[in-house]
Amino acid sequence: MKSLQEKILNEGSVSGSDILKVDSFLNHQLDVAFLNEIGKEFKERFKDEKIDKILTIEASGIAIASIASQYFGNVPVVFAKKAESKNLDKEVFETKVYSFTKAKEYSVKVSKKYLHKGENILVLDDFLANGRAALGLKDLVDQAGANLVGVGIVIEKGFQEGRQLLLNEGVKLESLAILESIENGTVKFR
Ligand code: 5GP
Repeated sequence: MKSLQEKILNEGSVSGSDILKVDSFLNHQLDVAFLNEIGKEFKERFKDEKIDKILTIEASGIAIASIASQYFGNVPVVFAKKAESKNLDKEVFETKVYSFTKAKEYSVKVSKKYLHKGENILVLDDFLANGRAALGLKDLVDQAGANLVGVGIVIEKGFQEGRQLLLNEGVKLESLAILESIENGTVKFR
């Protein structure tokens, strides 16, 4: 997606050797008009699929999934919860996700009320790096007996192993921008 590449070049910054910061439009402030373009592009990439629900993970995935949903006929958006919450239902699907950016493992949950056997689920998220978040969401879909239609990612870090791990699991993966490298503060696209 050319406009996304331009947005990353104009507004993104590199932190350390392998983190891209895009706080101005995706991870802190939200550029709603641009998120609509992202939503339309996801619809285009998955236009031949029947999607019953979109599944994402808090926090940054929520805005992306909610706006994208409008291009998929306003299907419900379910977001997996990371935070411990007393309010969450007792009956949950739960999996563990290791975060390399935070260097810790955390538990991710979805109430059994909101994922059902046989539903066609599209997973959307902001970044794909080592694939742990996406594989965790796939695990929740599998536990529910639902069908994972595909995984849509806004920015894939192509130099990390996420893509290969998802392809090994037979997942249809669509990334709107794929970074080849972010060495020395310079972003290169695949
Ligand atoms: P993974 O689970 O694929 O290793 O990492 C994906 C998650 O880590 C994303 O949901 C995102 O929150 C975070 N993440 C990984 N790499 C980056 C990065 O370079 N920039 C930002 N902003 N988030 C990242």
